[in-house]
Amino acid sequence: MPVAQASAFAALGLSAPLVRAVQQEGYEKPTPIQTQAIPDALQGRDLLGCAQTGTGKTAAFVLPMLQRLAATPRTGGIRALVLTPTRELAAQICERVSAYGQHLGLRHAVIYGGVGQRAQEIALSRNPDLLVATPGRLLDLMQQGFIRLDRVSILVLDEADRMLDMGFIHDVRRIIATVPKARQTLLFSATMPREIGALADSILIDPVRVSVSPQRTAADTVEQSVFYVEKEGKRALLEKLLRGQGVERTLVFTRTKHGANRVSEQLVRAGIDSAAIHGNKSQSARERALERFRAGSLPVLVATDLAARGIDVEGVSHVINYDLPNVPESYVHRIGRTGRAGASGSAISFCNTEERPLLAGIEKLLRRRIPVAEGEVPRGEPAVMQAPAPRQAAPGNYARPAAPSGARPARRFQPRRSRSR
Ligand code: AMP
Repeated sequence: MPVAQASAFAALGLSAPLVRAVQQEGYEKPTPIQTQAIPDALQGRDLLGCAQTGTGKTAAFVLPMLQRLAATPRTGGIRALVLTPTRELAAQICERVSAYGQHLGLRHAVIYGGVGQRAQEIALSRNPDLLVATPGRLLDLMQQGFIRLDRVSILVLDEADRMLDMGFIHDVRRIIATVPKARQTLLFSATMPREIGALADSILIDPVRVSVSPQRTAADTVEQSVFYVEKEGKRALLEKLLRGQGVERTLVFTRTKHGANRVSEQLVRAGIDSAAIHGNKSQSARERALERFRAGSLPVLVATDLAARGIDVEGVSHVINYDLPNVPESYVHRIGRTGRAGASGSAISFCNTEERPLLAGIEKLLRRRIPVAEGEVPRGEPAVMQAPAPRQAAPGNYARPAAPSGARPARRFQPRRSRSR
């Protein structure tokens, strides 16, 4: 990594072993929450952080915590405690502590419920400097005499609002009551309900307040709608939409190469200039079509997902999903082709009966409904279905794929959505 990038972390006041560790993680530069939080946290200030998972908040508290622990002598007891609501989060934080602390030689342990406690007792007997814990199991082990918190000098409450939602707030208060008052306290919460505000007021002393919101993605900025339309009606609807006002430069997505050819040919026959690009077209044919599309002389480009990857064309006014993609993430990539660089854009999807599960998958990923373009459905057009009855609320559990582990290539920070409650 070039020195200039590494020094962005060093400039926050982080020590060489930590800078080296984040370098090894492939981080290029600090995220906004890290830039805001790390310098003050290193000074020992209390902190109130309003940030969701995916903003890089874990490193924002783990890095300064590790540095301060490494700078002070071991006491033989637990010196830093991180409270977090779930087993998954506890395990993730612990994994981050191992990664960021790899050159420091500090000891850490993680405890959570739902598993036998023997292995955790053994880990605790090794005198960790730092403990990551969920509140229930921590209280349990405290009551059994396995844990004392009277040497804790740094306390972190992570995802405090979630601990509240999960009914842990009393446990959290009981735990905090056993931690020495002379300490640094860092509290992170995605939202600040009244109870968390009250908790923050009672446990933080003159805190620095930092707040970041996740970057808005195409899914937030592009106007989206869906037409319920059967296969036979898609062609007529596409033509109608393409003749509509404000539809200037449009990318139409199909699932297959064959489909892309067919749709493009039908449009040309209907008098709408268009071309298809996909893997079976020669490179020169693809480039020609793209060039015309870019120059504005070709209003409609019909593409498959793969062919569209490298397309970066300014001013695409509409993306039309003639077919819904099989993979929900492709939807987000597709609609990201419009509304770029502050320009407004809209994404219209066609969904037939067979594609309903695909739409459900996309909405689950987006964690919201795509509005039905009811007002625009041509009346009396037999092939266009009525919008189905209001759909059930999407299930609440939108699990994201686990973060990749192992050696990491250089990566740019990609904000993620927080896990739903
Ligand atoms: P978090 O919000 O702490 O759950 O972090 C979200 C993801 O961002 C994790 O996979 C981190 O490894 C990663 N991350 C944290 N800080 C950075 C950074 N400065 N650059 C790149 N990735 C980061």
